[in-house]
Amino acid sequence: METLAEKILSGDEVAAARLMRAIDDDLPMAAEELRKLYKYTGNAFIIGVTGSPGVGKSTLVDALITGFRKRNMTVGVVAVDPTSPFTGGALLGDRVRMGNHATDKGVFIRSLASRGWTGGLSRATTSVIHVLDAMKKDIILVEAVGSGQGEVDISRVSDTTIVVLSPGAGDEIQMMKAGILETADVYVVNKADKDGAENLRVQLESMCSMKDRKSEEWNPCILMTQAYTGKGVDEVISALLQHRDFMVKNGDIKKRHLQQARLELKDAAEYALRKRITSVLESAYIEQLANNLMEKKVDPYTAADEVMSKALSSRKPRKTV
Ligand code: GDP
Repeated sequence: METLAEKILSGDEVAAARLMRAIDDDLPMAAEELRKLYKYTGNAFIIGVTGSPGVGKSTLVDALITGFRKRNMTVGVVAVDPTSPFTGGALLGDRVRMGNHATDKGVFIRSLASRGWTGGLSRATTSVIHVLDAMKKDIILVEAVGSGQGEVDISRVSDTTIVVLSPGAGDEIQMMKAGILETADVYVVNKADKDGAENLRVQLESMCSMKDRKSEEWNPCILMTQAYTGKGVDEVISALLQHRDFMVKNGDIKKRHLQQARLELKDAAEYALRKRITSVLESAYIEQLANNLMEKKVDPYTAADEVMSKALSSRKPRKTV
């Protein structure tokens, strides 16, 4: 029987949706399938779209999908909404978005509803990106609210990062504090039809010009859009593709990929270890150790060392190199 991974590689969207759900639910079988898919990833251009709630990220993503499709590129979308306490919210979002692209086989959209993660948001996001990549999507758009809380740092997983702002949102200072503005390769001032948009653009420009930049470094572009009419979106797409070419030519893309690989490795190792520790501690063993601690027969540090060695010896590593 064909595995999920094999089905996904042969373009089965139902299988892809199943694996993404398993990732979202943090099921062990997800890791097994991802193992098989990993070597088929690394070809997509991954674009992060971040900004505060309400600036128009979803509308822009929708317009970008249309624009990339006009250029005959296939598109995958991952929307991450860690702030929503309603697990159904993200899925409802999918249905709304899907409205415009539902019949288009070149588009696959998935929201992460944060049901089963235990602090593994970036891991789940990365995993879903891998699935879309293995599905041979040319472009992967990753949309997330920029909270500045490390885990949701979209620039960790994307090749190019768009920071979306809009007049009146008044959160530039917050974003600056959180370091989100710094992560942009492309700034988009959305809602260009509104008062204050030009002012915001000028502010961003002066902020960018203050930064000490080497001549060979990318100078982030600042673009104006009206996402809901699509005005200015073509220029955003051109800027994104230009940034990719720039990174390919000067080797930055390799550096970013290497950095992504480092972070993913660290995440995966920490996750695997945490799982092993939890499984070791789930037995009567924890009771016995806790009693020993309480009676001061052992200190927690020595006990932790013992737990670690037990966790590590309970699984034989697979061969890596
Ligand atoms: P998100 O929370 O950042 O994803 O923002 P949404 O995409 O949901 O958009 C928030 C609101 O802004 C919606 O009501 C959109 O219709 C509206 N919106 C999006 N783009 C524009 C624009 O260019 N101009 C104006 N005036 N409103 C827009």
